[in-house]
Amino acid sequence: MVASEVRALFAVASRPEIVSLAGGMPDVSALPMDAVAQTMSELVLQRGPVALQYGGAQGDPGLRERICGVMAMEGIDASPDNVVVTVGSQQALDLVARIFLDPADVVLTEAPTYVTALNVFAAHQAQVVHVPMDDDGLDPQALSETLTRLAAAGRTVKMLYTVPTFQNPAGVTLAGERRGLVVQACRRAGVLVVEDNPYGLLGFDGEPMRALRADAPDDVVYLGSFPKTLAPGLRVGWALAPPAVKDRLVLAAESAMLSHSVFAQLAVDRYLATQPWPEQLKVFRELYRERRDAMLSALAAEMPEDASWTRPAGGFFVWLRLPEGIDTRAMLPRAMLPRAVAARVAYVPGRGFYADGQGRNELRLSYCFPSPARITQGVAPRRDPAPGAGTAGDVRPRPGRPG
Ligand code: PMP
Repeated sequence: MVASEVRALFAVASRPEIVSLAGGMPDVSALPMDAVAQTMSELVLQRGPVALQYGGAQGDPGLRERICGVMAMEGIDASPDNVVVTVGSQQALDLVARIFLDPADVVLTEAPTYVTALNVFAAHQAQVVHVPMDDDGLDPQALSETLTRLAAAGRTVKMLYTVPTFQNPAGVTLAGERRGLVVQACRRAGVLVVEDNPYGLLGFDGEPMRALRADAPDDVVYLGSFPKTLAPGLRVGWALAPPAVKDRLVLAAESAMLSHSVFAQLAVDRYLATQPWPEQLKVFRELYRERRDAMLSALAAEMPEDASWTRPAGGFFVWLRLPEGIDTRAMLPRAMLPRAVAARVAYVPGRGFYADGQGRNELRLSYCFPSPARITQGVAPRRDPAPGAGTAGDVRPRPGRPG
């Protein structure tokens, strides 16, 4: 196990004079705190003895039912019996890895991919093989070729781990016409698809994308979570799995933690039942859209011609590719950091998002937390803050750890 690049940066990125484009923390200050407080206080007063007790390892049945309603927004028709509540989708991923992976198994992922997923796969001694991705997400042809090559080499490929919608870290989305092709390629090769979808409801245009799981219930384990759409501090996520896999997940969850926080589960359930959550999703989408726009405008204004970057239609992240020869980690050396910090900006260097050393001249920029003025200031090559931008009053405390 190794410390992730994101975590190593966190201590520095939280200094108030630094514009942090590094962390992936949702802006929970956009939540109506009085409504949250009311929900929790009613929960304790009305259902305290249940909310404060142990619960079952599969999760609260009422919440699982409600989660099925949430997944229906992405075209998924599921039974609460096949939902397992987890401690964020991070735990769901760890449990899936625990029950499927043996040392030396291959896991296919996008290139780049979610850094903490790489840590999970490494902890289970699996080998990650990347599949190329472009602005429309995973390349199905390259996926088929990779599967054929690995089969010919006698390798056991256990799963494709994919974040198909508003990906972390690249911000790209798997195009609708590619979705079936990706699942078919995996089905032909007998490879499970793990669809990690924490950002799917945070699209900036139109209706949510149809999940891979919606059209392939037997081929896909779907991971969902409330951290980005409600509050990460409650740590409520879930896995939706075919029945045989679900049974194993429940056993794995039981040995990992005995019981979830019943309080957190019932708080989420009650919030969704009593508050206008769809309106809250709109508030988040608007907030992040405005910040995405600020970041894309700043990049267009400031970057040299031979830099390129993604244009996310939702989620939290832009992936920036600088000219060959630039080492984005060297721009942010360990003890922080002559150049980038003199410019008072933090970001995550690209190499940590690959298992094979790619990404030297790449980096992840997140726009989810700073204000548009701070984003503009962070992207610009200035040594001093622009007048009026990024004053102390604009800097909020950053509890917790970025994703
Ligand atoms: N998957 C992806 C792609 C993520 O970006 C994150 C959080 N950064 C997670 C899973 C884990 O999220 P959580 O455990 O908070 O649901």
